[in-house]
Amino acid sequence: MALTHIRPAGQAGFVDRFDHRASQWLRAWDPLRTFQVGLVGAPLSKTSISHSGAFQFPQSVRAALAAYDTYSIDADLDIADVLTAADVGDIALHPTDLRLCHQRIGEALHSYWSSAPNSVLFLVGGDHSITAPSLSALAQAVGGTIGVIHFDAHHDMRNLEDGGPTNGTPFRSLLDSGVLQGERLVQIGLRNFANARAYTEYARAHGVTLFTARQVARLGIADVLAHAWDIAAKGADRVYVSFDMDVLDQAYAPGVPAPGPGGLTIFDALDAMNWLGRQPKVCAFDWVCADPTVDVRNLTARVAANLLLQAAVGLAERNARTGSPE
Ligand code: CA
Repeated sequence: MALTHIRPAGQAGFVDRFDHRASQWLRAWDPLRTFQVGLVGAPLSKTSISHSGAFQFPQSVRAALAAYDTYSIDADLDIADVLTAADVGDIALHPTDLRLCHQRIGEALHSYWSSAPNSVLFLVGGDHSITAPSLSALAQAVGGTIGVIHFDAHHDMRNLEDGGPTNGTPFRSLLDSGVLQGERLVQIGLRNFANARAYTEYARAHGVTLFTARQVARLGIADVLAHAWDIAAKGADRVYVSFDMDVLDQAYAPGVPAPGPGGLTIFDALDAMNWLGRQPKVCAFDWVCADPTVDVRNLTARVAANLLLQAAVGLAERNARTGSPE
């Protein structure tokens, strides 16, 4: 029997028959259905150095997606028409054992890559510590050489001896373990007074390419990305994009544990996601370190939802150019 005047749970606001909600574009994972984009949540924030409720970020992004349509007026395309997407779900984590949590993230994403090696992963943290097991899982499951473009106010190269692994250590872990070579890592958006000199020196000594947020403002994000791409993608089979929400100026992303002035603008970030989405070597994005418990009107989650959708538009444009991977 049909039900009258009842809309699906979680559907926000007024929706008419022409609307395509982004939350509906993401269909619940089905092992029998292939997909081009897979959303996975890694709700871990007990590994954050400062107080963080980032474990709530995946659900806040999903809620924000319910408020947006899938049509891009700039690209004049509807991603729901040309790109298949699955909400794979959240990784089940242990309540107190943080190393076991990282192990589970690695195992979960290893299984993801084993089942959908040609998809593009949209991983929503969680704090930045999740990037270390995520990248390691990609390297183990898919192999090949990986380049990384990392947007962040911070290097995230704290030493592990003083308390790691935390959200301050993922790129130190990846370099020290050999999963990632410094010559294929580009950090974009670094800010004054956010990093100790020792970590900038560590990055430079390991061949990491650095762009400060001030340089992005002076050079423009397009030139920075072109330069970054030459370094991260050269000789790499795949490129992984990691985006810490605190790379944005605090005016755009109030709901982060470490807000600060002098960050990237929203158009820098949106254009970067779109441009990177178009590059065939990009196989994964992560968005991390937003704390919905200190957000203002869900603004930071809404920004994240836009970044995710903008990356999806780039993927749709990539597939239109090169043919669908699935
Ligand atoms: Ca970070």
